[in-house]
Amino acid sequence: MKNDFICPKCDGHLLVGEFIVFTAITKKGKRGLILISPHLGDYTRVLHPTFQVEKGENVDYFCPFCHANLAAFDIEPRLVRLLMIDENSEKHEIFFSGVEGENCTYKVSEKKYEKYGSSSEVYDIYFKTRRV
Ligand SMILES: [Zn+2]
Repeated sequence: MKNDFICPKCDGHLLVGEFIVFTAITKKGKRGLILISPHLGDYTRVLHPTFQVEKGENVDYFCPFCHANLAAFDIEPRLVRLLMIDENSEKHEIFFSGVEGENCTYKVSEKKYEKYGSSSEVYDIYFKTRRV
């Protein structure tokens, strides 16, 4: 069984086929759909060619069901929060950067903390301090 990805606000299932689906708005007000890989550490994504995001631009990610802004305001607003249910039915919080070009993902649960991506040091401190 594959990992499942759900909205932390409404429990909507965001994984469709090979991608996790979001609606997104850039700080400049451009709107579009973003599909990202469900494999942690894989930064493959699909955007419509008309939806262009510049490197370093901050993007707000929204749940396509309940339209909640998925930013982790309580930790760091540039991070996007999801829930993941793994193949053992264990629940993890997943965080990734909403800043274009920052490749980092964090998997956090009571038992485990894992980080992925070339930019993973950027937000590592938030999770280290949180776990103390
Ligand atoms: Zn939702």
